[in-house]
Amino acid sequence: MSSASALALRRGVSGSPLRDPAPVRADADAGVATGTGALLQVDGVSLEYRTAQRVVRATHQVSFDVFEADRFVLLGPSGCGKSTLLKAVAGFIPPVDGEIRLDGRRIVQPGPDRIVVFQEFDQLPPWKTVRQNVMFPLRASGVLGRKEAEERALHYLDKVGLARFADVHPHQLSGGMKQRVAIARALAMQPRVLLMDEPFAALDALTRRRMQEELLALWEEVRFTLLFVTHSIEEALLVGNRIALLSPHPGRMRAEINSHGFDQHSLGGEAFQATAQRIQRLLFEEEQVASS
Ligand code: ADP
Ligand code: MG
Repeated sequence: MSSASALALRRGVSGSPLRDPAPVRADADAGVATGTGALLQVDGVSLEYRTAQRVVRATHQVSFDVFEADRFVLLGPSGCGKSTLLKAVAGFIPPVDGEIRLDGRRIVQPGPDRIVVFQEFDQLPPWKTVRQNVMFPLRASGVLGRKEAEERALHYLDKVGLARFADVHPHQLSGGMKQRVAIARALAMQPRVLLMDEPFAALDALTRRRMQEELLALWEEVRFTLLFVTHSIEEALLVGNRIALLSPHPGRMRAEINSHGFDQHSLGGEAFQATAQRIQRLLFEEEQVASS
């Protein structure tokens, strides 16, 4: 068991509503590691969109900690602010309340330590080959020289099973293969946290299942830290070791679920179904409360 999983278990997060007192922290401004040992801390974060006409609150005082090698899932209905939260972690949207810290330092802008994989298939510039696509951020950010960037690109293309396709252009690839390239490109940057926003939602069911399994196999090998957004309960249970359940718009933390024990072999099993139902109930109860 990974230390992060052990940590998650030790913290006893199994399905308990998040009413725990705030964890003890060291001084974040000094840039020191925090008392919780968390890699990423989302701390009382409210996010808003402001237009000339109105203010839309996307999330309300959301808090959670992500530990190294966690596969942390944000799960909730459409419109509950999952993508907005991910964009805030990426550094594109500043919180109106609370703060987000990586390694104890407040996130104020995008950086190569947080790379996002999106749902869309068109996130790869079509005029670049697969190899050039994966190399590009490594070169543009000045992380590596040409030769090293090429080696790193091929290494990660191999990891996602696409080494043979290094010299083709994206339009020659299927949707699943394009997503594999996007994942290779992100992992090649070796970010502190890999951010994924419904990366498999536009794929057919079979490809989607295969990509979920491949992502897990990749994680077994590379042990990256993942923050993964989905509105699918099944996908959350499969992909995640911990799940933050968000209430409908504006998103608030509803509960945290320990999903460490589930993989593709537990699909349809009793424990899997029971947890899926518990999640559904938590969302449903929230709706009842909201409408009463
Ligand atoms: P999710 O990813 O969970 O489906 P989003 O984070 O995309 O939800 O959106 C959260 C809320 O913020 C929704 O009510 C949505 O309509 C609103 N929203 C999203 N993007 C914008 C925007 N650019 N301008 C105004 N409101 C937005
Ligand atoms: Mg979204």
